This record gives sequence, structure tokens and C-alpha cells, in this order.
Amino acid sequence: MNTSEKELQQTEAISSLSDYVSSEIQNKKTPSFFEVLKKNGNPPPISTHIDVFQVNLGYLCNQTCKHCHVEAGPSRKEIMSKETMQVCLKIIKENDFRCVDITGGAPEMNPNFRWFVEEIRKTKIKEIIVRCNLTIILANANYHDLPEFFKNNSVHIVSSLPFYNALRTDRQRGNGVFEKSIQALQMLNKIGYGIEKHLILDLVYNPNGAFLSANQKNLEEAYKTELFKTYNISFNNLIAIHNMPINRFLEYLINSGNYEDYMSMLVSAYNPETLNGLMCKNTISVAWNGNLYDCDFNQMLQLPLTVAGQTLFNFNINHLKHRQIATGKHCFGCTAGSGSSCQGSLTE
Ligand code: SF4
Ligand code: SF4
Repeated sequence: MNTSEKELQQTEAISSLSDYVSSEIQNKKTPSFFEVLKKNGNPPPISTHIDVFQVNLGYLCNQTCKHCHVEAGPSRKEIMSKETMQVCLKIIKENDFRCVDITGGAPEMNPNFRWFVEEIRKTKIKEIIVRCNLTIILANANYHDLPEFFKNNSVHIVSSLPFYNALRTDRQRGNGVFEKSIQALQMLNKIGYGIEKHLILDLVYNPNGAFLSANQKNLEEAYKTELFKTYNISFNNLIAIHNMPINRFLEYLINSGNYEDYMSMLVSAYNPETLNGLMCKNTISVAWNGNLYDCDFNQMLQLPLTVAGQTLFNFNINHLKHRQIATGKHCFGCTAGSGSSCQGSLTE
């Protein structure tokens, strides 16, 4: 076994400790991600560059969705400080990232959110994504002007809407969420989002249970037809993702007795063609406290980088841009079928 294989196996061991709640539940029938890569003759994933600087502003949220991989909610206290945001800004200015992708929780609930977005807009960054949950816009009067704020800063909005009807959306995101999301989408459309060329509004679909996402293109057509017909809503792209077997969705899998079947399905749907598009290959994920991870999922599992000692506070792109990715069994969620990422399917 070479050094790289040893490191990977160690990484998987760390992951298995942190990502599944007990060894009893740790499904022994599921091979490690590393084993499946090897069996298929695929090299372990290595990042090619850092194009996307993804910043998680904290785990505070106005919702407590059942499918949330962050376990976000109104009682979470972890919030990025302004000092840490200032370090992010310094790094953004010193490097050639294409995109800053701001996520949470509900990132808008961080008291320095607007300042942070405005400061990023002053840099040469081409794209600012905000992962907005829509209902925050209606949460109280402090947020009602968010659509204008997004427009003034040319923010690309990405919003979860698990389905185009209330039943399936509310089942995952809470009672009344669908109706508020529709109102927020109408507000965004009114000022040009999803309609004017430069105001991009994307929606995110995820399955309503222990199965893989359907074809992204077909889903997008159905969403566009139904949302326009019923609510006069337009949007740009539909991002179809798989549910990752971590945190709240993992709890659901365990409680419903679906864990083993879901993992077996992910493993049997392993698709090597997804490997080149994995988001960890061009992204670095920054946690609220300045810790760095390969992706937001690894962040939630506290699965560290394979590059020891790197944080926001001693950020060195030369140590990070070609790093080996820390993987675990949850990675089968990204490589199943057409693949899954923050940008949607990977092979269509
Ligand atoms: S899925 Fe999004 S909106 Fe729902 S609780 Fe998690 S962070 Fe909040
Ligand atoms: S969960 Fe997905 S994005 Fe994260 S490290 Fe695994 S394969 Fe990469």
C-alpha cells in the first residue's frame, strides 16, 4: 500500500467515526468509498484548482428542514464574526477565485451579511452566489428589502424548493413554507430575477425520500411548466441533487429502517463519470470559525482536510489547490447516477 492509499484509508476511518452515529449503524455491507474507487480503477480525487470560495456564515436559520445536512435552526449559535469575514475578504482579494458562494443556515441572518456581500462586490470576483431559503425574505420587516439588495449587488440566487407543490415541499421544510416560498419567488420575479438576463434565480430539487433524484432536465421542464401555469413564476435553472446520508437525512434513514437499502442503492449506482465534476475538485469550504474543508458536507461531518494545519488564518493556496480530497461513505451521494453537487447533476 502506498502512502497515498494509507492516507486515504485513515481519512475514511476518521469519516466513519464522525459521519455515522454508531458502529452498530455503520453498515458493514457498504464498502468504503476508497474500495469502490480502487475496484473501478479510479484514482482518489485530487483538487485541480480553487475556483469557488464557499463561505458558510453560520448555522442559524429561520427553518428546521428535515433534509437539512447542516442541522441548522433558530437555536444554533455558530455565526461567522466580522473579523473572520475580514480575513475572508483579504483572501478573496489576494487570489483568483471566480465565485464566492455564500451559504448557511440562512446567511442573511448573520448581522454582517450585507456588509460582506457589498465588500465582495467591490473586488474582482465575477459571481456572488447566495443560497437563500426564500422564507427569510418574509420572516420580518428587516428582510423584506432583500430582493432589492440582491439585485443591487448582482447576486446569483440559489434557493431550495423541493417540489412544485405544497404537500411535498412542506413535508420536508415545514408547514406553510411552500406558500411563503411562492410569495418570495413572486417578489423576486417582480424586480426581474429569473426574467432579466443578468438576474439569475435557480431552484434546487431534492427527492422526498430514500431514492435518487430523477433526470434534472425533465424535472426542470416540469417545474417551469407547473410554476408558471399555477403561480406565474419564472426561474432560470433547476439544480437536482441527491440527499446526502448525513445529519437529519441520516436520522430519517435510520429511523425509517432505510439506511442499509439507501447506501446499497448509492453504491450500486456509483458512476465513475461523475468524478471529474465533483465540486470538491474546484471548491474550498470555509466554516463560520475559519476551519477549512473540501466541501460543505465534510464541514458538517468535521472531516478535516488531508493537508494538516491549514485554516483560513494561514491560508496558502499553493498547499490547497492540488490537495487530496478527504472522502467517506457519504461521497457515494455525489457519485450515484448522474451525480450530485451544489451546481446540480454532474453528467447531463
Ligand atoms: S435546509 Fe436550508 S433552510 Fe432548511 S434548515 Fe437547513 S439551512 Fe435552513
Ligand atoms: S461529499 Fe462529495 S463534494 Fe464532498 S468530498 Fe465527498 S465527493 Fe467531494
